[in-house]
Amino acid sequence: MAECNPLLNRRQILQGLGAGALAGAFAAPLRAATAAPDVLVIGAGGAGLRAAIEDRLRTLEQNVETMFWIRDIIEKGAEWATSQGRHERKGFRSFSVSGRVKNPGVKLAPAGITMRELVDEFCGGMQDGHEFKGYLPGGPSGGILPASMADIPLDFGTLEKYGCFVGSHAVVILSDKDDIKAAALNLMQFFEDESCGQCTPCRVGTEKAAKLMAKGPWDVKLLEELSTAMRDASICGLGQAAPNPLLCVIKYFPDELTKPLGSW
Ligand code: SF4
Repeated sequence: MAECNPLLNRRQILQGLGAGALAGAFAAPLRAATAAPDVLVIGAGGAGLRAAIEDRLRTLEQNVETMFWIRDIIEKGAEWATSQGRHERKGFRSFSVSGRVKNPGVKLAPAGITMRELVDEFCGGMQDGHEFKGYLPGGPSGGILPASMADIPLDFGTLEKYGCFVGSHAVVILSDKDDIKAAALNLMQFFEDESCGQCTPCRVGTEKAAKLMAKGPWDVKLLEELSTAMRDASICGLGQAAPNPLLCVIKYFPDELTKPLGSW
């Protein structure tokens, strides 16, 4: 919490910080808005947060990336801003790209760019000897999609119907040299580590899912039942989204299910 420019009229800027999902991007700004009236909250949005702060008329919630572009939009005009973007999207997005591409890193790209365009035009293509096999469109929670679905515009609302989301725009590119099931297991173990432990479906669900995924063959029916419980009954987004990579492997990489873990 810090005192700000007087232009903000003695308001304070609170930014959500903290370890774990419960104290993270959604809940911390919500707690800040609830605890301290008359504040400017910077952080990820969400229906719950918006509903909470709408009661406080002098509170503004905004995304950091949106605020970053305000100066350029003022200087260059709205027409310039809306002329950027692809596939009927407007503006820019920052993608953090890692994985099997030649030039990983943070890429400032048109909003709505597809994954194939991002890889080919902004990342120098795939590494030599690697064939594009799949991708994480939005960090650990955003699911895993096959390369055959790399022509979908990457933006909010375009991937949800496939069980994925672009989220933080943290993209990971996987190749034919990667074991997709091992990647999904790694992600589930990450969620197991990150679970704050407050609610049982997430605390126990991630642990059980990781154990089931580590031994083969996968019991698909049991893993799907476990995923449903985690999605429906976890308190926050971490537990609700933890099954996304697992469910994507089952849905989009059925051939992988017959292979032993650690082979591809
Ligand atoms: S879903 Fe529950 S246990 Fe998991 S991080 Fe959120 S509050 Fe904690």
